[in-house]
Amino acid sequence: LGYLSELIQAYFSNVNDMVKYGKPCSPLIHLKKSFLTDNEKLLHKAKKIAEIYSKQPKRKKCKNCRSKIEKPMFKKFNVEYSICSLCGHLNGLYEDTDDFCKSIYTENHGKEYANNYHSSDKKEYKRRVDDIYMPKAIFLKNTLEEQNEVTEELTYTDIGAGSGYFVSALIASGLRKVSGYEASEYQVNYANQMLGKKYVHCNSLDGIETIIENIIHTSTSEVYGSAQYVPIDEKHPLQAQSPYAASKISADKIAESFYLSYDMPVSTIRPFNIYGPRQSARAVIPTIITQALTQDVVNLGSLYPTRDYTYVTDTVEAFIKIAENEKTVGKTYNIGTNKEISIGDLAKKICALINPDCKIIQERKRMRPENSEVDRLLADNTKAKEEIGWLPTIMLEKGLQNTIHYIKSNTQKYHKKEYVI
Ligand SMILES: [Zn+2]
Repeated sequence: LGYLSELIQAYFSNVNDMVKYGKPCSPLIHLKKSFLTDNEKLLHKAKKIAEIYSKQPKRKKCKNCRSKIEKPMFKKFNVEYSICSLCGHLNGLYEDTDDFCKSIYTENHGKEYANNYHSSDKKEYKRRVDDIYMPKAIFLKNTLEEQNEVTEELTYTDIGAGSGYFVSALIASGLRKVSGYEASEYQVNYANQMLGKKYVHCNSLDGIETIIENIIHTSTSEVYGSAQYVPIDEKHPLQAQSPYAASKISADKIAESFYLSYDMPVSTIRPFNIYGPRQSARAVIPTIITQALTQDVVNLGSLYPTRDYTYVTDTVEAFIKIAENEKTVGKTYNIGTNKEISIGDLAKKICALINPDCKIIQERKRMRPENSEVDRLLADNTKAKEEIGWLPTIMLEKGLQNTIHYIKSNTQKYHKKEYVI
């Protein structure tokens, strides 16, 4: 679902006052004395790592927010770097492939890597926690509390916990539900020895799925093709009427096979048409709204097909309800409103809200090939209602008003574009 990644990007682009945390520098300099004394050795190591790294495939998207990589800003040991203008992440311009990660983190049980973070004894370990990691834990705690989170009730997982310094600091700040995961066996043993209890767990890079509590695989109502009966429940036959639907059906089946073969905790969600603020201008509702706002005619493809439109916040609520409910594992849920509307009637409704004089025109060049057109999608949402207690709360009229309001206030993002199937 492209819309989801658009939402994530929109989230980052709306964060104006991002507060970032930086480690205090004077204790760091003290700790990293070896930077001076072992300069030659460290330089050799850094060059070796850069050499392996620069043989990996090129990175195309920001590691943090998945937006497109911009042009390189500087080069070090033959590796180019670029700072993401959306989220501020510093990206090395090659992929962190499994091979690369293994060569750094788990070679020789990760002993080599662990040496970078080794304290000579418990006293030094504690000093490192106090000087470097306590301020970070307190920063996190304060930030969460500013957002009215009850920090004691949250669960904290440090992925890539290393020697467990941050885990140790979180525990020392009074948080109880704390754990860490680390790929280097050597580091895990060392961390737990220092922490005095098994807080850090080992995860080989190959076995990462064992720490995943629940995966939601996002499918789509398009997998059903034109309704053979309505409303469409989860048992409706799957029909690949477009390459998009075929790719989604394959993904659904792969998810199912991982659940059946490897006990992977995966639930599948099939949202019927999602709409709402921030949706891409290519989708039908923004297309209609943009046209009705800027001209007296709305050009569309086929007007007769029907769809079941679900408002974005209701869909997000469904994701959360599925994620939070263990009983959803291995199951599939339709997320729709159990109401259908034809594209033509939808356009009339939108025009009535914006520009009642607008004419609606059906254009041949915008139509899908006949056999590819999905005539009717109408969700049976009984299973979601009964098993996860999900119900749509925003009705079409209200949802359209919110979307129109958003597009009106963000016209620069919605230049009139050609309709893309
Ligand atoms: Zn980014």
